[in-house]
Amino acid sequence: MDLRDVSDDLSQVLYTKSQLDERLAEIAAQIDADYERKDLLLVGVLNGAVMVMADLSRALSIHCEMDWMAISSYGSGTSSSGVVRILKDLNSNLLGRHVLVVEDIVDTGLTLAYLLENLRSRKPASLEVMAMFRKPEAARNDIEVKYVGFDIPNEFVVGYGLDYAGRYRNLSGLGTLAPHVYS
Ligand code: 5GP
Repeated sequence: MDLRDVSDDLSQVLYTKSQLDERLAEIAAQIDADYERKDLLLVGVLNGAVMVMADLSRALSIHCEMDWMAISSYGSGTSSSGVVRILKDLNSNLLGRHVLVVEDIVDTGLTLAYLLENLRSRKPASLEVMAMFRKPEAARNDIEVKYVGFDIPNEFVVGYGLDYAGRYRNLSGLGTLAPHVYS
């Protein structure tokens, strides 16, 4: 699905697919250098991180393994509580592995904080985060995200894996949803 296909539903186009690809290539080059000769495990958080995981992993020149977690937030509506239930756990043992969590978006950061605490208890050799999007104005903690695609305004966005009511995940770019869609 292209941004043009849903242009009436978007109040603003933030990034086209080619802009996202360009930024991902830069981040992949950094990760290539940082994890050279290391055994890299990418951990994706379902469902939102599917697109970024697929594109980031293919932009890397180094080998990596991929594993997935599915979590559900107890937050009401669009607000995050930071209390998370694990719906699907990883298949891999993290002990001694170099783990890079791949996230679609960091909003308040509460979900990520919970996740990192959980993963850290499994004693990986290193634990870092790559997030395609981050909303600095919404941050409720100061979790370090080592690789950030783009810092974006504190608005509800859709596309590139991010949904509204299950839709727009397959939108190739990123945009802000027009109020008439959710009101
Ligand atoms: P946090 O705990 O950082 O506040 O929220 C993390 C989760 O909330 C994200 O993984 C994502 O699923 C959802 N989320 C936060 N902001 C947005 C947004 O602007 N659009 C969409 N579609 N989901 C969001």
